[in-house]
Amino acid sequence: MMNQRFASNPNPKANVLVVDDTPVNLLLLNQILCRNNYKIRVAPNGKMALKSVLANPPDLILLDIKMPDMDGYEVCQKLKSDPRTEEIPIIFISALDGAIDKVTAFNLGGVDYITKPFEPVEVLARIEHQLRLRELMVELKSKNAQLQLLLTTTQSISEAVDIDSALSIILEKVCLTLGWDFGEAWMPDESATKLVYGQAWYGNDTKLAEFHDYSKTQDIFQGRGFAAQIWQEQDLKWIADASQEESEMFSRADMAATAGLKGMLGIPILLQDSTTGDHSEVLAVLVFFQKNEMEPDRRSLELLQAVASQLGSMIQRKKTEAALKKANLELERLANLDSLTQVANRRRFDEYLDCEWNRAQREKHPLSLILFDLDYFKSYNDYYGHQAGDRCLQQVAQSAGSAVTHKTDLLARYGGEEFVIILPNTQGSGALKVAETIRDRLKQLQIPHLDSQVSPWVTVSLGIATTIPTDSERPELLIAAADAALYEAKSEGRDRAILKALPLDP
Ligand code: GH3
Ligand code: MG
Ligand code: MG
Repeated sequence: MMNQRFASNPNPKANVLVVDDTPVNLLLLNQILCRNNYKIRVAPNGKMALKSVLANPPDLILLDIKMPDMDGYEVCQKLKSDPRTEEIPIIFISALDGAIDKVTAFNLGGVDYITKPFEPVEVLARIEHQLRLRELMVELKSKNAQLQLLLTTTQSISEAVDIDSALSIILEKVCLTLGWDFGEAWMPDESATKLVYGQAWYGNDTKLAEFHDYSKTQDIFQGRGFAAQIWQEQDLKWIADASQEESEMFSRADMAATAGLKGMLGIPILLQDSTTGDHSEVLAVLVFFQKNEMEPDRRSLELLQAVASQLGSMIQRKKTEAALKKANLELERLANLDSLTQVANRRRFDEYLDCEWNRAQREKHPLSLILFDLDYFKSYNDYYGHQAGDRCLQQVAQSAGSAVTHKTDLLARYGGEEFVIILPNTQGSGALKVAETIRDRLKQLQIPHLDSQVSPWVTVSLGIATTIPTDSERPELLIAAADAALYEAKSEGRDRAILKALPLDP
């Protein structure tokens, strides 16, 4: 009679193990519990109770204190010292009020006690209360694990430099936290016709490493295989035993069987369409395997969903941020560019000159400026037309740009057919060399200018000024000096460069 199932309900509330050496007590408790839809098992002594618990852990144990050989306290102690059984709530049963050492009972980890004779209502109330507490505890623990995982993944993703490294962090964390043996990420290729193997996590298992090496060589095409199905349906999916699957469903079934993998779960990482809020794009498909057959468990699934959605929105945020940054940079670039010649514009020149002027002042370095102007450009326009004039300006800008080689130098369109170059940390002699190079290169281009009075080709005149800025000076002084030099170059016959040293120039 002992250690057998007394009755079976189709949907029992919970599994309860009753440990008592008195058959009449067992019968009584069995009656009370069965009537109230509990599944009950019994053990007549401590030894059998321990065996029974290990073989099939119950949700709660009713444990008699006075038993031959091993008393209830000892059974309780043994169960509480084993991590596999320590969480099962134990309610002590005592023969008479007072026969129970309540302090010992609670110290050993008992959660409550019931004294004989049994009041069915009390027995049920105490059991139900403990089961509810237990349920809340499990829920709390799982929520806690979920929050922990979410917290660490969120942090890792935000610290990850790119999407690949975010994915590899997630695979590792999910496997380690939820007990998966193998995790992999598949990503749609650019044309979205197939999934390409991304990264994987599999600990140090050599069989799993072989499975990984094999998987790396595979591509998954649309409409074929497990990951492709998740990609298409945009929903989580699992297979209890992947090694038993038909090859259309899971093309790596043989390899999975060799690697000892059974349970398989796939989850899509979705990017939400920011305008409609619909899931619009699968960024990746994560597939996890374990060596056991998979029992889908609601909490793990919820947790995975939460991680996946977190990952999706983090990646989306990263993508949006990157796009925004790019757009801003492009806008800034455009705002600083002269649209005709594609060199820096006047706005950028003013800003840069201020900045370099201050730096040169601080560091007591020389700062040079070249201002140059096309010779007889009015007549060029008159002769060749305004559009040809525009093209000519573009060529001159490009040619001058090629002569400006230092990273810190800046060529800008000053206005009309005048250009300017800022040369930080450059002496007058250096600036003069650059000016001569500009003049030479332009000459080599041989842009015809039949109406020029100085050359058959387009030429420029250049004025150069240089100084080590002092506190009392303003950058306008340097521009005025370069302008004066340019004026001199023009009046001395054009097609030449003239260097004007400011009074304070060393
Ligand atoms: P100088 O040798 O003394 O510099 O004589 P110049 O004719 O070059 O000087 P001036 O200042 O008399 O004429 C400048 C001309 O440059 C007049 C103007 O039409 C032309 N110009 C200014 N900006 C542009 C432009 O963006 N496109 C074209 N095609 N021409 C321009
Ligand atoms: Mg001019
Ligand atoms: Mg001119």
